[in-house]
Amino acid sequence: MSGERGQAASSTGRIIYRKDLTQDLAILRVQPEDGSSVPDFKAGQFVTLGLKLDSDDKMTYRAYSIASPPEEKRYFELYIKWATEPVMGKFTTALFHMKEGDSIYWRKPAGAFTIEGKKADGTPDDRTMVLIASGTGLAPFVSYALHLKALGAKRKIALLHGARNVRELGYHELLESMEKDKSWDFAYMPTVSRPDDPLSRGWTGHTGRVETLLQIRDGGMSELEKRLNEKLTTQNSFFYICGYQGTIDSVVAILQPLGFVTNRNKRKDGSFDIKIETYG
Ligand SMILES: Cc1cc2nc3c(=O)[nH]c(=O)nc-3n(C[C@H](O)[C@H](O)[C@H](O)COP(=O)(O)OP(=O)(O)OC[C@H]3O[C@@H](n4cnc5c(N)ncnc54)[C@H](O)[C@@H]3O)c2cc1C
Repeated sequence: MSGERGQAASSTGRIIYRKDLTQDLAILRVQPEDGSSVPDFKAGQFVTLGLKLDSDDKMTYRAYSIASPPEEKRYFELYIKWATEPVMGKFTTALFHMKEGDSIYWRKPAGAFTIEGKKADGTPDDRTMVLIASGTGLAPFVSYALHLKALGAKRKIALLHGARNVRELGYHELLESMEKDKSWDFAYMPTVSRPDDPLSRGWTGHTGRVETLLQIRDGGMSELEKRLNEKLTTQNSFFYICGYQGTIDSVVAILQPLGFVTNRNKRKDGSFDIKIETYG
């Protein structure tokens, strides 16, 4: 352990696995260096990684949602995009030059983007969970899905993921196989916004940004509602949104006129039906 003055203590870890999906998108696993288990955390929380990037030995930290479930005690799995626009990101540029075996600092998991199991009045919430992600905003929902599956959850879940091309649909095979598993009620709806990109070759699924799956079409139902075979209301569904600010704004703009309210603007009784996480 090495404490930083005035900051939470950070521990040393090691990158034990790296899988590059594209040149700027990777799945990494970080393991505590001393071989201990990762600390307890809740699905949806993030871990803070630290690197010494500056010559003055100062540590630079960035938060990353944990994609592995709390049941996985060997490592944190992370789904990370190399920030390259408009300028090269400070932390991710260093991170994407790292390899398996390299050391990295980490701080214990934190964050409130966790599953709401109860309503504001304390009664169990059994509404359909609609999880909407753009880009690496998928990471907390992979943790949610694996965790709820491990718990044997019976709640209906729909996971919508938008990416630019098929190669950027991280966890695609895992989520497809989870959807095929009939022991639970899990719908997976991936969509690509650049179907003509060579990296989308052969794609026959949904196209367009993820929020288009919520837009009401000719038949009076959205693609999501058709998939779930019901109109979505505040009575029967609860939304989680994670990703780009544009995705969050677009989804909230569709849901607000239907009476949905966010955790950032709760009703007087403390209730809400949309929980939001932004990476910006
Ligand atoms: C709770 C939380 C969870 C997160 N989870 C994830 C996750 O799971 N996966 C993930 O990939 N990211 C995640 N992030 C984002 C992550 O923490 C970093 O912000 C991200 O990796 C970029 O860090 P960076 O140091 O590389 O970029 P930075 O150097 O911090 O730059 C950030 C952005 O600003 C731009 N920028 C920098 N300097 C300038 C400038 N002078 N003028 C104009 N633009 C500039 C960069 O181009 C870049 O787009 C999360 C963030 C939060 C808050």
